Amino acid sequence: MIKKFLKRVFRKSAKTKSVGNAQVIPFELHGVAREQISYGAKKVTDGLQAAGFQAYVVGGAVRDLLLERTPKDFDVATDATPEEVRRVFRRARIIGRRFRLVHVMFGEEVVEVSTFRKMIEAEDAQTDEHGRLLRDNEFGDQEQDAARRDFTANALFYDPTTQEIFDYHRGYADTRAHILRIIGDPLVRYREDPVRMLRAVRLSAKLGIELDAATAAPIAAMKGLLDNVPQARLLDEVLKMLLSGHSVECIQQLRQMNLHHGLLPLLDVILNQPMGEKFVMLALRNTDERLGQGKTVSPAFLFAALLWHEVLAAWKLHQQQGERPVAAMHAAMDEVLAKQKAQLAIPHRHDAVMKEIWLMQQRFEQRSGQRPFRLLEQPRFRAGFDFLLLRCASGEVDDELGLWWDEFQDASAARQTEMLQPEGAGDKKRRRRKPRKKADAPPSGEFPA
Ligand code: ATP
Ligand code: MG
Repeated sequence: MIKKFLKRVFRKSAKTKSVGNAQVIPFELHGVAREQISYGAKKVTDGLQAAGFQAYVVGGAVRDLLLERTPKDFDVATDATPEEVRRVFRRARIIGRRFRLVHVMFGEEVVEVSTFRKMIEAEDAQTDEHGRLLRDNEFGDQEQDAARRDFTANALFYDPTTQEIFDYHRGYADTRAHILRIIGDPLVRYREDPVRMLRAVRLSAKLGIELDAATAAPIAAMKGLLDNVPQARLLDEVLKMLLSGHSVECIQQLRQMNLHHGLLPLLDVILNQPMGEKFVMLALRNTDERLGQGKTVSPAFLFAALLWHEVLAAWKLHQQQGERPVAAMHAAMDEVLAKQKAQLAIPHRHDAVMKEIWLMQQRFEQRSGQRPFRLLEQPRFRAGFDFLLLRCASGEVDDELGLWWDEFQDASAARQTEMLQPEGAGDKKRRRRKPRKKADAPPSGEFPA
């Protein structure tokens, strides 16, 4: 109470001052205390300042603290060159070729340190034929470093020693007013780097702040520029959206701006099928909740969910053409994965897990003999089961199946035996058609034909 009161009194009397072109906002106004900075970031700014350099916490962390959110990580900006930074710390390494950054390690924490950079002057700028910046790695000063950043809220420098914020673009006022505003001329800035349009969507959705009207206005007309962005970078940004903890808002925002077409080919297809849309939105909501509870989400699970209804459709088609279910499922999975790979560059490393999750879905139907026990032993049972629950929630399969597995996995041995269905109940038809020698022992990762 008293603290709050004092803060208010201080705020009234505190004033910003100007240093060069920067507004310097004192602690009494912004209220971000040195203690809110991570251990590693403080070590880095202290170490660099003791060595005679400037050093500030910068970017997303300052913005998040002003919005009373917990920063994901802390970045530091300095006038020291990467080599100079490395010399100050025992555990530091230079990374990156285009922009050389330094990673300073403190136990688990990695602090990314970047040297002030400037935007290359128009006549020297290397841009492609669409105006996209190909190079922006020239060293500069703090003011220039602020100007090359994307949004005013992302261009604030916090000095943990003096607890002052240096602001060149009215980012403090914007952040306080919950406005995300691009620095400079939006047309130029989006042309330089079209990914900024996606960042605008993601950050405003994630932070629950408004996109400034002039920042939002040109996006609809300029979205075609995203076609020139390398696939890997697009996927990176899409993944950041899906794993932001606010994926539902991100997707809604993307659709509102009509940005999702072409950007997310997998969503293009799926959002047009009523069942697919419900399933995907449930999966995203579920992901957001998990992240909100501090749980992890694997990208493979998310991709598996996004593509499920395509796999289902292809599977059906292959079966209609006379293929047996297992073979049809394998064909369907390969087909869908190949198509997505061409469009969205989903890395191959997720394939195995996605396939395991999909293949397990049929095995959940089999609830007799030894099969349910074998399924329980699958290392990815939990992911498969979570996936099954999503299918139940979306109305694709009966809730009863999810409830059965929910009980079965934790039941006593006696109760499990009691729960088993009579042998052959679920797969009579298929067995009659093609008896297996060992009907009870399907190869792992497959369901019996
Ligand atoms: P997040 O909370 O997702 O990490 P962030 O703003 O910290 O958000 P980063 O990708 O970590 O995002 O980038 C760190 C900082 O680098 C940003 O705050 C911004 O100042 C600058 N930046 C990042 N991407 C761009 C870009 N495309 N154009 C200009 N500046 C950028
Ligand atoms: Mg960041």
